[in-house]
Amino acid sequence: MQKLQGIAVSPGVAIGEAMVMDNEGFRIPRRFVARDAVEAELERLDKAFQAASDEIAHNRDAVSRELGSKYGAIFEAHLQMLGDSQLRGELDEMIRNRHYSPEYAVSRALRRYAQVFQKLESRYLAERANDIFDLEKRVLRNLLGRRREGLAQLTSPVLVLAHNLTPSETANLDRQFVRGFVTEVGGLGSHTAIVAEALEIPAVVGTGPFLTDVSGGELVIIDGDEGLVILHPDEETIARYQHEVEEIRTQAAQLKPLRDMVSETADGVAVRLYGNIEFPYEVKHCAERGADGIGLYRTEFLYLSADEEPDEEAHYKAYSEVVRAMGDRPVTIRTFDLGADKVSHLPDPEDERNPFLGLRSIRLALRNLPMFRNQLRAILRASVLGNVQVMFPLISTVLELRHAKMVLSDVMEDLDERGIEFNRDLPIGMMVEVPAAVMMIDHFVNEVDFLSIGTNDLIQYALAVDRANSDVVSLYNASDPAVLKLIAATIEAGNKKGIPVSLCGQMSGNTVYTMLLLGLGLRHFSVTPSAILEIKRVCRSVTIPQCEEVAQRALTMENARDVKSFLRGEVRKHVPELGL
Ligand code: PEP
Ligand code: MG
Repeated sequence: MQKLQGIAVSPGVAIGEAMVMDNEGFRIPRRFVARDAVEAELERLDKAFQAASDEIAHNRDAVSRELGSKYGAIFEAHLQMLGDSQLRGELDEMIRNRHYSPEYAVSRALRRYAQVFQKLESRYLAERANDIFDLEKRVLRNLLGRRREGLAQLTSPVLVLAHNLTPSETANLDRQFVRGFVTEVGGLGSHTAIVAEALEIPAVVGTGPFLTDVSGGELVIIDGDEGLVILHPDEETIARYQHEVEEIRTQAAQLKPLRDMVSETADGVAVRLYGNIEFPYEVKHCAERGADGIGLYRTEFLYLSADEEPDEEAHYKAYSEVVRAMGDRPVTIRTFDLGADKVSHLPDPEDERNPFLGLRSIRLALRNLPMFRNQLRAILRASVLGNVQVMFPLISTVLELRHAKMVLSDVMEDLDERGIEFNRDLPIGMMVEVPAAVMMIDHFVNEVDFLSIGTNDLIQYALAVDRANSDVVSLYNASDPAVLKLIAATIEAGNKKGIPVSLCGQMSGNTVYTMLLLGLGLRHFSVTPSAILEIKRVCRSVTIPQCEEVAQRALTMENARDVKSFLRGEVRKHVPELGL
């Protein structure tokens, strides 16, 4: 049994078959072969080895011709490995006696060889492990041929284990069969993590390297509450986690009655609980939990999950589905927040060294007006179907906000001229996720109808910590007193002006922060749908004076660790049933 500690980014427990993905998106199935198929499988292996050898010999000859035989010799080592009778003997034994599929046998044997290299003291030799992975890939490519199964063509439930998953890869995961995922890299605020929550499957990121220790088809446990991944679990561990899966089900059932209870504090102060969504299908997740509306619709996932840039109709179709389903409840459509880790169809900016500080989000929109206007037209058209609000992301200056509003009013004029209906009083809001916006918040409140605090970004920009980087994850902390002060200032300014302020970063769905945020004056929470009922439970268990006391104390503290343990203690005291 092998335990890996990573970063817990989406709760729950999943027990299932591993699907190991390499950079080329291979799945290596552990398929046992039937006794009478053994000879045919051995023949298949022969053919794959032969084809791989031919490819390598071809490469050797081509490189020798261009660069000389010294360079061609690099490939000679690969050829020798393929011709090694010990390796072939091992593979034959696994297929003949243990009835492993050739794919599984190849992967298992070569990964074991690679591990031996990786454990060697010499860095040069350790790097030779890459040659073996290369060889594995080449043989598998020949073995799997057209039967290669990518993430999109699954036929049975799997837990995806990968080095990294981009937000668009995650967005395209097959919801029917992917039951959890683990990535070697990634941080707390990565969008991959956010998609896992949308899919409502457990996920762990930033475990560090482990993919060479596991083969496709092996049983794996993902503990998304503790950030643990267990490879080769023993019987006792499997039984313990099966029990936990049952417990989680029971707890979810216990929360259900809260759905129809009023969302307010114990002393009767109303609190609005909205859902964050990335895909239209999540409206159902929100409705199941009795959400008061959609507080954040991350529309960039429309771009990430399509092969080409969505046109106005594609936008309109998605928005109208969401808006109609929500009836008269508000739907806050955030204009696309592409760039940084959310790569779109637009060409990559050249020499972008700090993508989170570069051309992302509203900046990208204002540089690509036709694309931006397309989206705005669709939002405006959908605005007559229900209760739509529009929100601009990553606003950092007042002029930038005015520019975005000007484009919107331009599009309104356009629709007017063409006689297309829209809501003229469409509420316009902005996300507060850049510290500069907080410094200037007294000006911003005069320009918008509502604010929404995006702590996922606010934390990274305030503390200068990349939200997606596992190496600095200990510094990425919502409890940091500097972050609390930024949040407090924003809520205070919005409340003073009398405009709604919501908080839609991940922290609003974490029960540790509910008392603090209520105490700072927050009355609108926008959270991942699966967190709605738990947040409601905390709200209903506490009074505003209690929360205000907690917030005042927290604001006097000097470091994140003290704040976090204080907040945890207070929630534990007031809502013991949470089991924090
Ligand atoms: C945020 O930054 O807190 C936010 C909600 O936006 P996103 O996570 O999509 O950047
Ligand atoms: Mg953001």
